[in-house]
Amino acid sequence: MPNTDRPRTYRLREYTVTRDQEPDAEPHAYAMQCAVCFETGPPDADPDTAHGWVPAHLRAHPAHLTYREHVTRPYRAIPGRWL
Ligand SMILES: [Zn+2]
Repeated sequence: MPNTDRPRTYRLREYTVTRDQEPDAEPHAYAMQCAVCFETGPPDADPDTAHGWVPAHLRAHPAHLTYREHVTRPYRAIPGRWL
C-alpha cells in the first residue's frame, strides 16, 4: 500500500509537439477500413494505393458501402526547459 502521507515534489517541463521526421519515426501512411465489417486494407504511403483496396473489398462484399480512411501521421514531443 503506497504511503500517501509523504509530501511529493513535481517539476513541470515545457514540450513542443511536432511532426516526427526522425529516422526511427513511424511511417506516414493511409489505410481504408470497411465501416460495415471493420476489415482494413493494407497501409500505404500513397493514399491512391490505399484507396485501391475499396473496389476489391466491394467486389467481395457488395453490401458493404461505407468506408473510413485512417491516416497515420507521427508526432513527437520535444522536451524543452524546466519550469
Ligand atoms: Zn466489409
